[in-house]
Amino acid sequence: MNYHVAQAAWLNAINNFLLKNISEIRADFPILNKKVYNKPLIYLDNGATTQKPQCVIDKINEVFSSYNGNIHRGVHAISDKASEEYETAREKVRSFINAGKREEIVFTSGTTGSINALAFSFGERYIRKGDEIIISNLEHHANIVPWQMMCERKKAKLRIIPINDNGEILFDEYLKLFSPKTKLVAVSQVSNALGTILPVKKIISVAHTLNIPVMIDGAQGVQHGITDVKAMDCDFYVFSGHKIYGPTGIGVLYGKEKWLTELPPYQGGGDMVETVTFEKTTYNELPFKFEAGTMNFPGAIGLGTALDYVLSLGREDIEMRERELLEYATNRLSGIDKLKIYGVSDKKISTISFLLKDIHQYDTGMILDKLGIAVRTGTHCAQPVMDRFGIDGTVRASMCFYNTKEEIDVLGTGIEKVISMFS
Ligand code: PLP
Repeated sequence: MNYHVAQAAWLNAINNFLLKNISEIRADFPILNKKVYNKPLIYLDNGATTQKPQCVIDKINEVFSSYNGNIHRGVHAISDKASEEYETAREKVRSFINAGKREEIVFTSGTTGSINALAFSFGERYIRKGDEIIISNLEHHANIVPWQMMCERKKAKLRIIPINDNGEILFDEYLKLFSPKTKLVAVSQVSNALGTILPVKKIISVAHTLNIPVMIDGAQGVQHGITDVKAMDCDFYVFSGHKIYGPTGIGVLYGKEKWLTELPPYQGGGDMVETVTFEKTTYNELPFKFEAGTMNFPGAIGLGTALDYVLSLGREDIEMRERELLEYATNRLSGIDKLKIYGVSDKKISTISFLLKDIHQYDTGMILDKLGIAVRTGTHCAQPVMDRFGIDGTVRASMCFYNTKEEIDVLGTGIEKVISMFS
């Protein structure tokens, strides 16, 4: 063994020693010990929301029991402490997604809140009659409806990137959608309905050659690998706290400073102003210009702790565990006769959408539920994806690092049981 090989093996051994094993990881999430219908809970609905580690639960408890004072307002000790923790959480978000400046991180209520805010502000500032916004056929309703509402207000149009039978966008068709009227591209990093990872770097680089800004919906991307907004070069990036092991009701709108400086605020109220008279109001500096009213500071602080937790596990390690789970689950489920997987791109996160021949997805979901297995059924708030495949919904098993191969086996057996009940 030469020196470098020995050194790599040694580092690997240390790394394995430092990494938590799966039982240690699962012990961090109290809900994973629960039973439903007297069966161990098998939680495979992580695309809808993720479970919370004890450190996040404790942190929120700490805010309310030790320093629940309204942020940026009081001169008193607990308001100061809450403000400091809130701004520390902003810094944690900045560093997690590798944004350049803390001013570029705006807290919102979630991905939906972020996209609505952007659609309103961007629409007010830049969109005129006949302008066009490009989105894809893979989008969640949260990345369709706010743009549609803005288009209705401004008499603008949506242009849609089509997808193929694997559930991947057709890149050549994307290129054809650009026109002098194109003002923005807004696409997902990862499809929630099928799990497809979109080629966002390529999407952005093409748009930028035409000086068109791009918003990336990171709701299903940020928790599954390393997101680096500088490397990606997106103009806006949005995500939700609750999908990355943090609390509900908190989310992030990242925007490059030059855009956030030009965009008008989308809500008025306390804290987003510098001076107010009845004649004129001047706005606060970034990012506070976009944070009107009392913000969800316990949520932001809890999100900061969730990001620390993810970093403590290691994002490469999370990616590796989830890749193994996807491979295992794909093999197990595709071996089941009468099961069809929707979304078969070779670039996917650990999500499997499927249907059983002649069995409605709700029946499948309800029987699995009685076996203690939580999956999502329906359109997954992505009706155009279902329309593209001519179906009215799927069953979706969305896995993350705390799931196990044993759980996938129980899912497989559960699905076989559903099939036998209906045959
Ligand atoms: N975008 C995508 C891709 C999603 O998966 C979701 C939620 O599932 C959303 C947006 C909306 O997120 P939220 O409901 O947290 O605002």
